[in-house]
Amino acid sequence: MRIIVIGGGVAGAAAALALRRIGAEVTVYEAYANPAGDVGSFVSLATNGLRGLETLGCLAEVQRRGVDVPRQRMWSASGTLLADVPRGRRGRDTLHSATLMRGGLVEALRTAASEAGATIVTGERLTDVAETATGLTARFLSGHRATADLLVAADGIWSTVRGALDPAAPRPEYAGLYAISGVSHGIDVEPGVFNMTFARNGAFIHLAARDGEVWWSAQIADPTEPDRHGVTDTEWLRRTSELYRREAVPSAVIAATTHLHPAVIMHAVDPIPTWHSSRIVLIGDAAHPVGAGQGASIAIEDALVLAGALQAGPSIPDALAHYDAERRPRIIKLLGTAEDNRGAKKAGPVRRRLQAAVMRVFMPLFYEKATAWLYDYTPDTGLNTNITTMSERATR
Ligand SMILES: Cc1cc2nc3c(=O)[nH]c(=O)nc-3n(C[C@H](O)[C@H](O)[C@H](O)COP(=O)(O)OP(=O)(O)OC[C@H]3O[C@@H](n4cnc5c(N)ncnc54)[C@H](O)[C@@H]3O)c2cc1C
Repeated sequence: MRIIVIGGGVAGAAAALALRRIGAEVTVYEAYANPAGDVGSFVSLATNGLRGLETLGCLAEVQRRGVDVPRQRMWSASGTLLADVPRGRRGRDTLHSATLMRGGLVEALRTAASEAGATIVTGERLTDVAETATGLTARFLSGHRATADLLVAADGIWSTVRGALDPAAPRPEYAGLYAISGVSHGIDVEPGVFNMTFARNGAFIHLAARDGEVWWSAQIADPTEPDRHGVTDTEWLRRTSELYRREAVPSAVIAATTHLHPAVIMHAVDPIPTWHSSRIVLIGDAAHPVGAGQGASIAIEDALVLAGALQAGPSIPDALAHYDAERRPRIIKLLGTAEDNRGAKKAGPVRRRLQAAVMRVFMPLFYEKATAWLYDYTPDTGLNTNITTMSERATR
């Protein structure tokens, strides 16, 4: 089976790897020359995503590149501890959430996919795709054309393929939040803890990374989408310091900044009704930008379920229908959680106080039970995890 994957981010690279594991001939086309660059700071993987990486044979490499984060603490704007819970896992799970730079995660997956025999072509932007009864042709901005039996669209929240599949598909809209993230030095932060402060102007996240680095992200609530054009790093830092000046810990972390990542404007999309045709399928953010700290983990799950469905057959259209049926209920449930999370980050003073009271009571009693469906999930793919990569075979 010849498969084209559009997009070489987390979803595309994980899909390339999973599809090589079922013996498909895979070519990934990525629009940017270096998608693993400084593209939006750090991501966290929860146990559901980590177990997916284990199936793909990439867990150890991702853990090596990231930091182990067993706990999550929630703080009020005034610095009161609201909750201390296991981070991205059930309490009894010995597998700990990992946080790493998004670029590092993409690089690890892309390297594994190439080693497994996938071809990764960078600097090729898909412009459109034409489907026939027996195959499809993808066209690129450069004039390049490629044919295949299946096209997997992992081209992110601004997916070109989504519009080609269904011109009436919902479009991304500003989510009322933007993220300014950076790296600080010289601040004492307890290792292994993901700190989230529900500050007056939006949530503030910080955690200790390696070599004395502290990674932080301010998820700033603003009903008006900010204009990034011509805003310098110094200006972003000044604005962020000003917005968090009344919160002691966040303002100290921001003041110690040594590197700032590009600002990220956060978008949300209404549920997308059409995820596939007979030979085209959407995965990752192209199908469902879920947020809630789960986008990367869910993209990895998608890749595994899709590969498992294609392996089971009996035909490509049947496999795509199975993938849709298998993934949709979980995604719909998660979209509700993501909306709640965004609401919590944008809360005004009254709602913040109410939220703090609920968190203090709810978290110790119900958090474990309420998150079991998310973290305990393991896709039943039937994939053969013992298939070796090409480089492993070459060394024998
Ligand atoms: C501020 C912020 C914080 C986040 N934190 C977390 C977190 O802690 N945990 C988590 O799990 N998730 C997090 N996420 C979400 C996570 O980053 C995404 O859900 C995940 O990266 C989705 O991967 P993707 O491969 O589907 O899309 P993307 O990462 O967007 O990749 C799409 C790729 O397709 C390429 N592309 C696009 N169009 C074309 C085209 N026409 N032709 C060829 N290539 C194309 C793009 O260049 C890109 O490389 C966060 C997101 C944001 C914005």
